[in-house]
Amino acid sequence: MNGQFFISLLNPGIGLLFAVAFFLLWLNRRERYVAYAAGAYTASAIAFLIQDVGPVLPMELQRLPANIGFLLTGVLFAAAIIKRYALPVPWRAMAVTVGVSITVFIWFLLVHPSIAGRILSISIGAGIIAIMVVRSLWPIEKNHIIDRVLFWVAAMSALNLIIRPIVLLSLGGGFDNYVGFQQSVYWTTVQFSQAMVSILAAISLMVAVAIDQIAELRRQVGNDDLSGLLNRRGFEAQAGAVLRRCIDEARPVALMIADLDRFKQVNDTYGHAVGDAIITAFGAHVRAIGPAGMVAGRIGGEEFALLLPDAGIDTARQFAEAVRTGLHAACADRIPARLCPTTSIGLAVGVPGTGLSVLMHNADQALYDAKRGGRNCVRAFTPKPVRLAAGGN
Ligand code: GH3
Ligand code: MG
Ligand code: MG
Repeated sequence: MNGQFFISLLNPGIGLLFAVAFFLLWLNRRERYVAYAAGAYTASAIAFLIQDVGPVLPMELQRLPANIGFLLTGVLFAAAIIKRYALPVPWRAMAVTVGVSITVFIWFLLVHPSIAGRILSISIGAGIIAIMVVRSLWPIEKNHIIDRVLFWVAAMSALNLIIRPIVLLSLGGGFDNYVGFQQSVYWTTVQFSQAMVSILAAISLMVAVAIDQIAELRRQVGNDDLSGLLNRRGFEAQAGAVLRRCIDEARPVALMIADLDRFKQVNDTYGHAVGDAIITAFGAHVRAIGPAGMVAGRIGGEEFALLLPDAGIDTARQFAEAVRTGLHAACADRIPARLCPTTSIGLAVGVPGTGLSVLMHNADQALYDAKRGGRNCVRAFTPKPVRLAAGGN
């Protein structure tokens, strides 16, 4: 056992560490792409172990399982990145690439032995797989910095895998045996750059997993599962931003608050499950007919707020009427039609200087008018006339 032995443990060790880390992340949230990453690093650890540490087979033959392991690493890692974007994984193209690479590799192992030929077959095969990742990611929008990082990691790997062996072999020529090979500049570079790329890729993907998990938590915090709309917190955050933008850009904007009528009675008479089904139906109904850009949330038990950018009072009223009159049909899909409640709706339009809380207060006033006016109707907020102080001396 010497220093070389410990150095050769480096790559299997790194692979194993990352495999365990991705496996733990996968246990937390069972996403397929995280499982692929765990699989990729397991394959890499095993491949390096076969190659560097445990020469079970005669030196030359052991190259075959090791290199199959390297290609499998590439395939699984490519699948992990592509799957993160919910894009189709080119399994067939990757399988063909691996098949051709391995066939050429075996030819250079058994028929026409050449280390250079074997290096080229595996490196170029892996490079083509990296190019498939680049191709898949090319057209998608890379909004987050991590999207750009993943793209460039794939592009760099492709470049590295295709160019590196060609350059190094043209500089150093072929190798006659493995002893010369393992002491060569080529092999040292491969070991080093492989470790660097492997760490860079793993860390990038791990950061991506963390970002995805935070985004999902944020989404859950701001969402209401029952209605499929935002919850109060999510609504206030999104509607506040949209309202500010509309007012800054002098675009009309309206807010509507809908409250289901005599909902307590529905619950008390037919049970909570029926009440829940109605809330779900209301959410699906507004999502189905809502205009683009609408921000919709369930802000209380059976109370919903909808912010409508680019809607003046007439457009808002038309939409509110569509919500009100369409609710019956929307509910009837889920519960007996006679159980469907009606809804009362209050409207208010945004004017410069109005914040979300004022707008919500105004729409609430209008809703109160609708309830007092007999329910199952739409009312718009009208500012009370300001009484001017009587002039005096
Ligand atoms: P109004 O016409 O004046 O609005 O009368 P209402 O009965 O709808 O109003 P009230 O505020 O008295 O009752 C609201 C009811 O909403 C009380 C509660 O039973 C029901 N509720 C609140 N949250 C939920 C929920 O998540 N699921 C179900 N099924 N019911 C809920
Ligand atoms: Mg109600
Ligand atoms: Mg209510």
